[in-house]
Amino acid sequence: MNTLDETDDISAKAHALTAAVIGHPIAHSRSPMIHNRWLAEEGLAGQYGVIDILPAALPAACDILRQSPMTGFNATLPHKEMLLDLCDEVDATARAIGAVNTVSVRDGRLYGTNTDAFGFMENLRQGAPEFDPAGKTALVLGAGGAARAVLFGLQAAGIGQILLLNRTRSKAEALAEAFPGVQVAEWAARQALLKDVQLLVNTTSLGMCGQPDLELDLGGVSPEALVTDLVYNPLQTSLLNHAAAKGCQTVTGLGMLVYQAQKAFEIWFGVRPAVTDELIKTLEDSL
Ligand code: NAP
Repeated sequence: MNTLDETDDISAKAHALTAAVIGHPIAHSRSPMIHNRWLAEEGLAGQYGVIDILPAALPAACDILRQSPMTGFNATLPHKEMLLDLCDEVDATARAIGAVNTVSVRDGRLYGTNTDAFGFMENLRQGAPEFDPAGKTALVLGAGGAARAVLFGLQAAGIGQILLLNRTRSKAEALAEAFPGVQVAEWAARQALLKDVQLLVNTTSLGMCGQPDLELDLGGVSPEALVTDLVYNPLQTSLLNHAAAKGCQTVTGLGMLVYQAQKAFEIWFGVRPAVTDELIKTLEDSL
């Protein structure tokens, strides 16, 4: 049995769906909930589904998707980086972030981009409209895949300074090389650095359901600081609860998921779908 046989029938799905999210594992994805609602609201025919693809099967799967009638697909773990090489064209945003999360299928070619940075920044704009990143100092915790989109988004929005801290310092240093101006500090110094920041972002998986909490005493943080967590399950992480108790404004991670999807939908279908309270409530109820 080859790797294509071990996962979904990719060809059958690619011919039945308008769009999809590819990943492995993928069954838990909330993207169909979001996109199918928007397809219905916008009066567009078709369905958004999930396609489970093992990493080893991705090149062959891309050949199938390239020739399919699909409008496009999203990608999540573990495919985002590999798609940089497998797409026929990749735009500057995806190159800078080092990952593709949105692919358009046109005339037998795959066009890759990345909407995660847009999702992160739009979530901040909607959740904390008065927060202007220009000239501010941000403390970013974590140097995994999600951190790359956060650094890109913050720098594009004119943030003054970014301090990057990761448990494995070498990964933060490697990331900082790709984002000139980002300063790396010791993970152990996170407490001490808090007092000087106007934005605190958790991009680690700490605090996520099934993971340990992010241990951080927010005693030194200014109540003026904005605190956001990319973790959205649970919606109110212990970091956000502590920050709110300290008087800080907080923004949950769910909006990043929704706004990266909004941008992808707009790229594929040429219309920006509405992010309604009902949609957010449906997603919150699904957690
Ligand atoms: P990733 O590439 O696997 O990176 C995980 C990060 O968490 C690394 O920096 C890792 O540090 C750190 N970490 C893990 N366990 C730790 C521990 N015990 N102590 C300290 N640091 C620890 O994952 P990712 O793709 O960046 O995702 C990170 C989180 O963001 C996940 O919870 C994911 O669900 C969430 N996310 C949310 C959205 C959204 O739309 N809201 C989008 C993307 C991701 P090391 O390098 O030292 O291992």
